Amino acid sequence: MDLDIDGVRIARERADLALRPGERLLAGGTFLYSEPVTPGVTGLVDLLGLGWDPWSVSGGDLEVAATCTIATLRDRAASAAEQHPGLRLVAPCVSAFLLSFKVAHTATVGGNLCLGLPAGPMAALFAALNATAEIWTPDGGTRTTPVADLITGPGRTTLAGGEVLRALRVPPGGLAARTAARKLSLTAFGRSAVLVTGAAPGGAPGAAPGAAPGGVDGADPAVRTVRIVVTASVPRPLTLPVPAGDHDALDTALDRVGDWYDDPHGSPDWRAAMTRRLSHEVLEELS
Ligand SMILES: Cc1cc2nc3c(=O)[nH]c(=O)nc-3n(C[C@H](O)[C@H](O)[C@H](O)COP(=O)(O)OP(=O)(O)OC[C@H]3O[C@@H](n4cnc5c(N)ncnc54)[C@H](O)[C@@H]3O)c2cc1C
Repeated sequence: MDLDIDGVRIARERADLALRPGERLLAGGTFLYSEPVTPGVTGLVDLLGLGWDPWSVSGGDLEVAATCTIATLRDRAASAAEQHPGLRLVAPCVSAFLLSFKVAHTATVGGNLCLGLPAGPMAALFAALNATAEIWTPDGGTRTTPVADLITGPGRTTLAGGEVLRALRVPPGGLAARTAARKLSLTAFGRSAVLVTGAAPGGAPGAAPGAAPGGVDGADPAVRTVRIVVTASVPRPLTLPVPAGDHDALDTALDRVGDWYDDPHGSPDWRAAMTRRLSHEVLEELS
């Protein structure tokens, strides 16, 4: 760590989040402290002092604070998964991280989303569960956006300067969903090259039709829709609502993808082929 800054302010209330010139938000610090200081950054504002409740259920929604650590997310979801089967998706998504015990207890859900890394598994998790991101704006307001739309490219999000990711809200449909996940890396413990998650309306396959988890815009409510989310092999999360069992529709949707991610963890052609294979597996499992 080479942290040459002037100081760290601990935020205690929302007003403390008004960033001064040169300041940047700090959550767990596992990424910030692992990189050289960005030129121009002279101070950090620590979000953890706000003491947000990491996990709460109200009005049927689950709210996960941006400052919830990966370990807390994993442990709370394990306890709640019997009541909320959609939360079974947390375990494979947390496993997709390459985190030590120490980092897992420090890194936060919000930090992972705000980094916008293509292989960031929190986008794969919350987008599949049709979650909404609550964002505090610098003027004291709040805006919301589907998690699937928060990340716009490698290291890029829709967060404007001074905006703070406050929480992720999982709707009842996401909590009740049946889910599946597939991950592939070039090596046994390598970074994800492809991560495909999926969610389908709760209940056994073939049960009464229902809307997709949380509702898919434009979906015919008489057709069960599987929400497939592709990450790691594409620059930003890709959400594909596909009618259950319709593998042709999935192929058609994947044929339209033109920007497969290219980095040392996998070539675009290989990622495209493996994404297709894993997506069909997820669709099969959830149909
Ligand atoms: C050993 C190690 C292994 C890792 N493995 C993985 C991995 O497998 N997959 C992966 O995706 N990442 C990995 N990371 C990267 C990173 O640590 C994680 O993505 C982690 O979740 C980041 O969370 P954090 O709380 O530590 O973020 P921080 O380092 O505190 O912040 C990261 C960025 O997000 C911003 N930020 C944080 N919270 C908010 C918020 N609420 N609102 C607005 N902006 C915010 C910060 O300003 C900063 O720009 C790894 C890091 C280490 C050190």
